[in-house]
Amino acid sequence: AVSLAVGVTFGRRLAASAVWAQEARERERRLEAGRRDLVAWVSHDLRTPLAGLRAMAEALEDGVVRDLATVTEYHRRIRVGTDQLTRLVDDLFELSRINAGALRLAPTNVPLREVVSDALAGVAPLAAGRRITLRAAESGWPRVRAGERELARVVSNLLINAVRYTPEDGTVQVEAGREDGDVWLAVSDTCGGIPDDDLHRVFDVAFRGERARTPESGAGGGLGLAIVRGLVEAHGGRVRVGNTGAGCRFEVRLPAA
Ligand code: ADP
Repeated sequence: AVSLAVGVTFGRRLAASAVWAQEARERERRLEAGRRDLVAWVSHDLRTPLAGLRAMAEALEDGVVRDLATVTEYHRRIRVGTDQLTRLVDDLFELSRINAGALRLAPTNVPLREVVSDALAGVAPLAAGRRITLRAAESGWPRVRAGERELARVVSNLLINAVRYTPEDGTVQVEAGREDGDVWLAVSDTCGGIPDDDLHRVFDVAFRGERARTPESGAGGGLGLAIVRGLVEAHGGRVRVGNTGAGCRFEVRLPAA
């Protein structure tokens, strides 16, 4: 009976370490793929909008556009385009630091409630413009062991996406709780769901769904969720997505404080 018990324990340990090794290999493979994708991304997603900006600046310089309304519109588009590119460069920088393993986390016991309410305040104007209701519980928010800046980034990326990809008059809800010594945080929306074929790819660098490819979606360069996954995994956490029927639900798990 004793040897059987030892055998069982040993067997379990072996199985568990095999899973970890596989996860580490899988993560390394993904980081490598991420680095490759990033180079491809820079050459396309950064060059295309730059070419557009240059063409507009040139038209203004050459006097090709003259009437005041068009001149003003070109100036506005150049400013908006420059802001977008600045955000893309910031995202790119963040992701390359993650991929290089150069993220210096300084974890503290962060009150999730404050991080979530700041992020909600940040997306409120965007949500109001699309008549989207934002919901979050008043109390019961746990503390998380995390880098504050990184956690804020995770929450705001998820919220911005939820608001952007939910049709007007929808609802976005943030919830959190504790389970098995972890904290979970979930952002659910009424986007109508993500196609099954896309579900496992949304966290990949440069992956963008059909809806994101329309200019009015205001979407970024497909880096937002890759950053979310990178930051969460750097904390030893996990992130997943699923469809709920009305929409989708992103869930992050992090160590509790
Ligand atoms: P981006 O939004 O710039 O395209 P992301 O990495 O943030 O890049 O998201 C990747 C893709 O995942 C999006 O293009 C979209 O198709 C899908 N997606 C992300 N968040 C949501 C959401 N809350 N609801 C529906 N689809 C989403």
